[in-house]
Amino acid sequence: MSDEHEGAVGPELTAAFPYSPTLPVLFVGHGSPMNAIEDNEDSRAWLQVGARLPTPRAILCISAHWETDGPRVTAMPQPRTIYDFYGFPPALYKAEYPAPGSPLLARLVQSLLPGVTPDDAWGLDHGAWSVLLRLFPQATIPVVQLSLDTRRTPQQHYQFAAMLRPLRRRGVLIVASGNIVHNLRMICWEDQRYPWAVAFDAQVRDLIQNREHGPLIDYPSLSEFAPLAIPTNEHYLPLLYALALQEPDDAVRFFADRVTNCSLSMRSLQLGR
Ligand code: ZN
Repeated sequence: MSDEHEGAVGPELTAAFPYSPTLPVLFVGHGSPMNAIEDNEDSRAWLQVGARLPTPRAILCISAHWETDGPRVTAMPQPRTIYDFYGFPPALYKAEYPAPGSPLLARLVQSLLPGVTPDDAWGLDHGAWSVLLRLFPQATIPVVQLSLDTRRTPQQHYQFAAMLRPLRRRGVLIVASGNIVHNLRMICWEDQRYPWAVAFDAQVRDLIQNREHGPLIDYPSLSEFAPLAIPTNEHYLPLLYALALQEPDDAVRFFADRVTNCSLSMRSLQLGR
């Protein structure tokens, strides 16, 4: 495993994030923001996975819901809970995820990834907090978000994400949050599914199981269903962040692995233990 970028990590950061047993990486299919407060099959699966996770020093989240022109990392000591959705019940707007930020982790991310700008305006969007509220309900572990840089190709995102690998050995849990199949135009509010959504989700599952990341990066060539499953790629790209961090001995474990709401895959995965 290469650590070529760790030379840039200064003594203050190495003291704050010393070497520790390698942490897993998660990709969570977040779906509706209601999963933050609704007891359902998916939110229960997130709770169960969270209860088994080792306690990290900090969490780095890559969410589908923060796209920027050039990569940014949240650097504020106390990120706000962002309600970046409309028309949901009042109870959802009362939910909060008051985890602290980590300016030190933001600097560590900057030292690993060239060209990342610190950000004091964002916070935790629902792609991050709706999932973290289930994985770590106590909200005591510091959380930092890394944005999706709209200038990058999927291949560039994958290469960029791979540079985050040293974080896994410094007590940082990386949680990528999106959806493998995400077509809101075709969504229905029932537990039903389109055959194309099931087929595409299964194809992606098989490639993940076989560690064939190349075809997953080149997702438009996967099948005729790709434009339906991934009409825009912001929910798919977080999957590439998780896969780029897979080490050779990391097993894959799927959870909440189902297609629902006609055109939404909740398939989530944990890489490593
Ligand atoms: Zn979303």
